[in-house]
Amino acid sequence: MTWIAEIKGRWAKATKGPWLRDQQQYCTDDVRTGPGTVALASVGMYNRNAENDLEAIANAPADIARLVKELEEAAGLIDALTDAEPCDYDSRGYCTAHALEGPDCANERALVWLERAAGR
Ligand SMILES: [Zn+2]
Repeated sequence: MTWIAEIKGRWAKATKGPWLRDQQQYCTDDVRTGPGTVALASVGMYNRNAENDLEAIANAPADIARLVKELEEAAGLIDALTDAEPCDYDSRGYCTAHALEGPDCANERALVWLERAAGR
């Protein structure tokens, strides 16, 4: 299983959204979905960054879904645009196989990235 699939799997099992910010008690705010609390944060002197923390948590499902979608699309484009032919560097470190600057030409880095994204 790739790390992308692991992320998708975790979010597929998480509480369905939308997750919404909601002010609750004297010293806590929360992120809710329907009647349930998804996350709770201390506020005020207990956590002076709670506003930003809860905003990030409330938007996490949509943000991560978008990032995964964009990442999968980018991976497809990288795969389509890379050449499986190995690099061939000249004495100046220039890759003559892909007409790109070395020592690690962009094609080689893209192939490494694709392997990592595929979990290999
Ligand atoms: Zn190359």
